Amino acid sequence: MQVHLIAKETNYRLLPFRFLRMDDGRQDGVLVTAETGEYLFLSDTELNQLVHKQIDRHTKLYRDLLARHFIYEPGVHDPLPEMAAQYRSRKSFMFGGPALHLFVVTLRCNHTCQYCQVSRAPVGGSGHDMSAEHAAHAVDRLFESPSPLLTVEFQGGEPLLAFDRIRQVIESVQRRNEVEQRSIQFVISSTLHHLSEEILDFANEHGVHFSTSLDGPAFLHNANRPTPTKNSYERTLDGIHRVRERLGRDRVSALTTLTARSLEHPQAIIDEYVEQGFNSISLRPLSPYGFAKKSESRLDYSVSQYTDFYKKALTYLIAVNTQGAYLSEGYTSLLLTNILTPFSTGYVDLRSPAGAGLGALVYNYDGSVYPSDEARMLLEMGEDGLRLGAVSQPLKELLTSPVIELLLSAGVAEALPGCSDCALVPYCGADPVEHYARQGDPIGHRAFSAFCQRNMELLTHIFRLLRDGDEQTRRVLLSWVSRRSLADLPSAGYKG
Ligand code: SF4
Repeated sequence: MQVHLIAKETNYRLLPFRFLRMDDGRQDGVLVTAETGEYLFLSDTELNQLVHKQIDRHTKLYRDLLARHFIYEPGVHDPLPEMAAQYRSRKSFMFGGPALHLFVVTLRCNHTCQYCQVSRAPVGGSGHDMSAEHAAHAVDRLFESPSPLLTVEFQGGEPLLAFDRIRQVIESVQRRNEVEQRSIQFVISSTLHHLSEEILDFANEHGVHFSTSLDGPAFLHNANRPTPTKNSYERTLDGIHRVRERLGRDRVSALTTLTARSLEHPQAIIDEYVEQGFNSISLRPLSPYGFAKKSESRLDYSVSQYTDFYKKALTYLIAVNTQGAYLSEGYTSLLLTNILTPFSTGYVDLRSPAGAGLGALVYNYDGSVYPSDEARMLLEMGEDGLRLGAVSQPLKELLTSPVIELLLSAGVAEALPGCSDCALVPYCGADPVEHYARQGDPIGHRAFSAFCQRNMELLTHIFRLLRDGDEQTRRVLLSWVSRRSLADLPSAGYKG
């Protein structure tokens, strides 16, 4: 009888999971992650006991493993419907079609940034603006997407130099939306140097948001973003103040681009964002595209230099938040949401299947359509291999083009060599466009992948903070997860 009871008590089965030894000398140094994205930290001994079915069912560990879908009890509980529902939530971005539509209305710009990701054209140059006809076709493509939530983002160059085209697109989209009834957000990515009263009036009337670039304090911003008048920082700040005064504080956000010089000043960059009253900062590395690639030797830095900077910046950001300011780091927020909640952020670079083309489309000024901004930038480097087609073609045709097939064949991280058995894959992405740009192959080799090295470093750093951080550190990190996601936190696990 007793023998029978013991056998019954240990009669569990394993569900698929992956593990990663964090190599940090801690007893609970093995990160195990379930197919559904839940996780636990185990010791080597516990990992061995788990796979040899030796975990005592009366322990907390057993209950955690059961609740977080690492094991199940046959005949007692069927975990598959629950797991399928969680998996469906994590991949819900797949049901909507492209939601982000980027309109490159002009390549003209007044800046001469060395790291510029696109080939800019002079302010007075011709042949670099989107035509009215191409813009009208792009609006047709936008509404062919089934997504109920749409973001229309205007980029350049400096898009405000082609404000008439922006006006045409927004008015046309809003007219058609009286029938379509989608939820549509408009964003203009701009230096804000060319803001006028007319533009502010229009933005106010049509609910337009602005996204600008602020690289840090004046000495850094002006060095990174030279203009003939040498006052890029002052003009951008003036623009930020004007948007806030006229439209409200939440109508302008800012992004940082990091040069090698920026990496020496994490605190100064963060202090600038606090001083200017922003709630969010994005510490994004230089991309391997466009002029940034050509200027690589002067401007670029290794992934480990970037991740060293990122860790220092994160420590300082957490301290700043602990002292009462609220300033979240954009990429950390996305990773935390992927780790701690059953929802996907839908962020294009952290999606599997990949977001390029499926989640976003770029309408270039010349009437070509690309699956992502990065794919468009490759064109400016003389590489046009990732063009989906012409804006006059129906969306169905663009989304069944050979390029989409190529990206999808390399776009499912769970099936990629290196990623398929990586414990971090539930929180990571595939990014075939970056691998195509850096390695000439959309699948790429993870051992030489900057994307992989960066995500591996950042994700393991965040996992260590969640495991080892004090109460305040955890509180700050949790405050960076979106509110909707926080409601579901009890079902996402971290040991503690
Ligand atoms: S890219 Fe690297 S970190 Fe991300 S899932 Fe693949 S192997 Fe893991």
